[in-house]
Amino acid sequence: MKGILVILDGLGDLPHRQLGGKTPLEVAETPNLDFFANRGEMGYLYPVKPSFVPESDEAIVSIFGNEQIDSTRGQLEARGTDLKLTRGDLALRVNFATVDSLKEGNIIDRRAGRTLTTSEAEELSNALNEIKLSCKFSFEATIQHRAVFVLRGGWSDNITGNETPYSKGRVKGVDKISNFKVFDDEENALYTVNVLNEFIEKAYEVLNNHPVNERRKKSGLLPANYLLMRGPGIEPPKLKFYKKWLSVSYMPLEIGFSRVSGMKVFSFDYPKLKNLDSYENLKEGLKKVASFSTKVLRKNKKKYDYAYIHIKETDIPGHDNKPVEKKLMLEYLDSTLFKFLRNFAPPNGIKLAVTGDHSTPCKLKAHSADPVPVLLYNDKPPKRKDRFFSMFKIGNQEVELKVDGSKASGTGNKNIDSEKFCEKNARRGTLGRIVGGEFLERIGFLK
Ligand SMILES: [Zn+2]
Repeated sequence: MKGILVILDGLGDLPHRQLGGKTPLEVAETPNLDFFANRGEMGYLYPVKPSFVPESDEAIVSIFGNEQIDSTRGQLEARGTDLKLTRGDLALRVNFATVDSLKEGNIIDRRAGRTLTTSEAEELSNALNEIKLSCKFSFEATIQHRAVFVLRGGWSDNITGNETPYSKGRVKGVDKISNFKVFDDEENALYTVNVLNEFIEKAYEVLNNHPVNERRKKSGLLPANYLLMRGPGIEPPKLKFYKKWLSVSYMPLEIGFSRVSGMKVFSFDYPKLKNLDSYENLKEGLKKVASFSTKVLRKNKKKYDYAYIHIKETDIPGHDNKPVEKKLMLEYLDSTLFKFLRNFAPPNGIKLAVTGDHSTPCKLKAHSADPVPVLLYNDKPPKRKDRFFSMFKIGNQEVELKVDGSKASGTGNKNIDSEKFCEKNARRGTLGRIVGGEFLERIGFLK
């Protein structure tokens, strides 16, 4: 194996009041990431392009050198499930959500409070598959509030979803439900949105009166009574092929992306959400992905040139404005996966790259256009940029130091061995500014 790329979903962040004006990555104790940072280079990445707010699929598609036009969210998500797709099938990504009523149309929560258990989602999904439409369709609940919807037959995807939280690089606050709309006047597009709008209305009736939601309301939980759909797609994605890559992925989007990109996918069943604590579930997920990745890398280091490991959990505290949870997740990963990699990568001559697919700053509760920090371990002593100061950690103290190791003010300390991996240092790193499609080439992962 030549290189390992770890994508920490939503990694980039902004200073937060709860963390004393620092970012989760800045305050996290990450000795192992810092070890790599100190023996490599840092830089910063605009996953698609500057001032573009990417959705996860747009980001990952771009980071691997593809054009946005060549794939859709719906197709990628559906290809990450066991649903079989044929040409013309229309696939969409779905969220179980909460609205006050169809008439008022106010969205109370885009993810039904993140408390939908796996068995509840399955029950609702079964009920939805009983809906009578003039055509065939498949509805499949995937993980937590996520699901996939596929209309069978020849449809148009020149239509909107019934929500567009991110659109062409911009974030839109969505608080009202809307219908699917057409982008053209073709008969097929009009027919497609009519069928979808009909399904959404019927789905509301089924969901709102379903015993699962009656029970949820009684226990003070938000009912999962509405479906938000986005990323309509009919064309099979046409993505660059990464034949000698393995992928460790477990969310439908990343599994679908990896499959379409020709990678060998190693996956596991995500721990079921059994109780109301979605963060407890995320911690179980992190534990599983850390140990699973370790096993996959050990077993396959001779078989594949590169590994792509996508860790989804780190994105969620950003959406929920939970900076302390995000910091704890980063610390957990540092003490498990990155600790393993510290003993695995250097002796095997393997490079390590760590970055995010986009920033999800806690205080914004959404993706942002801010660049994500990049760390590239290539076992070279770091080249320090002149003129710049860097943040170092000496014991428990953070100090700004000049490039020669002397303190920015006061006396110097030459025993510096832990340059911190964080947004600030990444912006000053020698790897510099990287934009979307040039990422893999810049870190040398294409050869
Ligand atoms: Zn993401």
